[in-house]
Amino acid sequence: MSEELLRLNKLCVDYKVKDGYLSAVKDVSFSINKGEIFAIVGESGCGKSTIAHSILHLLPEHNEIIKGNIFFNGEDINQYTDKQLESIRGKEIGMIFQNPIDSLNPVYTTGFQVAEGIMLDNVSKTEAWNRVIKLYNDVKMPDAEKRAQSFPHELSGGMRQRVMIAMMLARTPKLLIADEPTTALDVTIEAQILNIIKSLRDEYNTAVMLITHNFGLVAEVADNVAVMYAGEILEQGTVFDIFDNPKHPYTKLLMKALPRKTKKEGRLQTIDGNVPRLTNDKPGCRFENRCPYAMDICKSNDAEKIMVTESHSFNCHMGGVDKQ
Ligand code: ATP
Ligand code: SF4
Repeated sequence: MSEELLRLNKLCVDYKVKDGYLSAVKDVSFSINKGEIFAIVGESGCGKSTIAHSILHLLPEHNEIIKGNIFFNGEDINQYTDKQLESIRGKEIGMIFQNPIDSLNPVYTTGFQVAEGIMLDNVSKTEAWNRVIKLYNDVKMPDAEKRAQSFPHELSGGMRQRVMIAMMLARTPKLLIADEPTTALDVTIEAQILNIIKSLRDEYNTAVMLITHNFGLVAEVADNVAVMYAGEILEQGTVFDIFDNPKHPYTKLLMKALPRKTKKEGRLQTIDGNVPRLTNDKPGCRFENRCPYAMDICKSNDAEKIMVTESHSFNCHMGGVDKQ
């Protein structure tokens, strides 16, 4: 049976802004099992990174209110002090970002930086170096020995992202958070990096929380998917639930907007309207101003969660009515 690793329960994050509080994440709940690839997909600004940063206590200090629970291995790490969290950051939960150059120190070789992490677990210098070379080979780094002795500026963007993945996996974390890991890369390298993430999951049973605005990536690698909009999860399910049987009007519109391979399947559709301001939050569906099916009740009441199957749910007042 699959074992739960991470569970968010009604996570809310409000940022303090000039005119009040901005509700960046509202009542977000989901769980990720060991070895699972879970994608959070949504447009820019929908709150994806805020969720990742909340898990690792990386939000700007004194600027936000966080409510809800973040259970990791059964413990609510949202209640942890920063010192307690320090003991699992990197070791149990690793994170890779969009721009690896920001996370690498320019004055040390990349191999040294990866080895440093390994030596934190009382491993000798020689053994750490051997592990660095093994990891560089695992992440398909060309000419691993030479690259381990290179400085970050001597590597391409794709190679730096491989270093970051090696660095995060050096301590075999149980969860890898990948925040738009391939956005800065060209499509060929993107495909290679995704294959590496998948094969490493297979080898180390690492769970992956993949944050992306790219539905194509989700279809390629994810087991389960949460679709976010304006700080809320509107629909979640297996990758087949979401792609073959989308229920929420927003997911359906996103599916129509996906570029198709054949001309017959139609022009790219964009969704009219803008994301609402999230300050001074009031009840009601946040997608209401853009939804073709909006009703009066949508303006004033939050929609209840509707279970389609055990794995598939969505929040909408339209309920089971299946409009196209
Ligand atoms: P992107 O894909 O562009 O990174 P995202 O989906 O990760 O976007 P977040 O960066 O989590 O979204 O932002 C969610 C909302 O919170 C946005 O409206 C953003 O403007 C706002 N926000 C993020 N950080 C802060 C902050 N430090 N102070 C105030 N508002 C913030
Ligand atoms: Fe549209 Fe109403 Fe459903 Fe929101 S709750 S998606 S406005 S029908």
